[in-house]
Amino acid sequence: MGQALDVMSEQSQADSHSMYIQCLQNLSIASKILAHHGIVDGFGHVSCRDPRSPKEHFLLSRNLAPALVEPEDIVPWRISDAEPVHPDSPRGFLERCIHSEIYRKVSNSCISLQFDDVEAVIHFHSLSIIPFGLMEIPFKAAYHMASFLGSEPAPIFEIRDSFGPTTDMLIRNTTQGEALASLFKEESHTRPLVLMRGHGATLVAPSLKLAVFRAIYTQDNAKILTNLASLAGGVDPLHLARYLSKEECEASAESNSGQVLRAWDVWCKELEEK
Ligand SMILES: [Zn+2]
Repeated sequence: MGQALDVMSEQSQADSHSMYIQCLQNLSIASKILAHHGIVDGFGHVSCRDPRSPKEHFLLSRNLAPALVEPEDIVPWRISDAEPVHPDSPRGFLERCIHSEIYRKVSNSCISLQFDDVEAVIHFHSLSIIPFGLMEIPFKAAYHMASFLGSEPAPIFEIRDSFGPTTDMLIRNTTQGEALASLFKEESHTRPLVLMRGHGATLVAPSLKLAVFRAIYTQDNAKILTNLASLAGGVDPLHLARYLSKEECEASAESNSGQVLRAWDVWCKELEEK
C-alpha cells in the first residue's frame, strides 16, 4: 500500500512538472499574442497559477516587455505577498500585486465556487479600453464574441476613492491590489473584467487560453462601442443601445466556450508567420 502511494505521488509530481513546463511555454506565447494584438505594448502582463502549488504560487515574467517574454523569463511568485519564491529571482513588475491579490482573494474565498475558478489574470493598458474608465459609459457585451462580459456594466476601479488624489495610478502594494481584487467578487459569480480609471483594465479567467480570448474580444467590444458612439453622435445614445441580454450572454458564452482553442491556434499561427 505504501509503495503504491509512493508511485502515485511520483506520478502526480511528474504530471504537475509537465504542466508547469507547458505553462511556461503558454505564458510566453500568450504574452506575444497580446502584444501582437496591441492589447499590451511595452507594458502589461499575463500570469497563471503555478500548477505545482496553485494555492501558494503564480507564474509571471520578470520585468520585461511582453513581446520579448520567453519561457526562461517566467518566475514563480508567492500569492501571499507577491514576493519571489526564490530570493535570487530577477526583478519583477511593479504591479505584480494585481495578480497576487486576485489569486489570494480567491484562495481565501469559500463564498463562490466560480470565483475559485480564476486560473489566469491579464493586466493591460489598451488604448481602446481607456475611454470607458473615464466616464460612465456602459461597457458590457455588444456582440456575441464578448458575451462573457455579461449584461451588467463592468465596474470602474477609482484609485482616488481609497488612496487619495496624488497616487501615480499604479497598483504598487498589496493594499491597493486587494482593493482592486475586491471588485471582481460578486455574490453569485466572478466578474471577468474591471476597468481602471486613467490606467487600463484587468481581467480574469478559468484558464490562460480563455484569458487571452477574453482580452482580445474585450478590446474588440471597446472598438465596436467607440464606432457606435461615432455613428450615433455621442456617448449618450450608448445608453439606448440594444446590448445582449443576460440570457443571450449566458447562452452565447456557453457556445463560445468550446471554441477557445480554435481561436488560440490561429493566433499562434499568426505569430509564426510574422
Ligand atoms: Zn498598469
